[in-house]
Amino acid sequence: MIIVSACLAGVNCRHDGKNRENPIIQKLISNHLAVPLCPEVLGGRPVPRVPCEITGGTAEQVLSGTAFVRDKNGKDVTAEVLDGVKIFMKAVARMNVTAVILKTKSPTCGRGKVHDGTFTGKMIDGNGVLTAALLKEGIRVYTEEDCEAFAKGLLGG
Ligand code: SF4
Repeated sequence: MIIVSACLAGVNCRHDGKNRENPIIQKLISNHLAVPLCPEVLGGRPVPRVPCEITGGTAEQVLSGTAFVRDKNGKDVTAEVLDGVKIFMKAVARMNVTAVILKTKSPTCGRGKVHDGTFTGKMIDGNGVLTAALLKEGIRVYTEEDCEAFAKGLLGG
């Protein structure tokens, strides 16, 4: 069993109240190989919500308390994001999950590239806060863009 970003599973949990349904993720769920979770919603952020970005440092620094996650209005939402990450990590441990598939570009779920904190659409190298926590624990993190071979393996080729 793996965990996937809920928005990739078709759940309308994004900041804009929409989803990013992905056929491979849907197939994993219908074959009972994956369950969807949204870390931001787990942390108490509403749907819809004001979008947020990592500011003043990296996701790893958010985890260590030296950078923040703020929404577009400047509100500090670090505590909610960290709460959601904590709950997600508990699910990972209890379900013995060793790999996840997460949505690209999100300040929480992103891997490799995230917005730069200026809300101008500019991307920089870096991870989302959840991804940083998962990688720290040795969990493999795929995205919807690079999960095809992994998903096909789970589905039996
Ligand atoms: Fe939730 Fe992650 Fe999808 Fe954002 S990218 S809506 S935090 S599951």
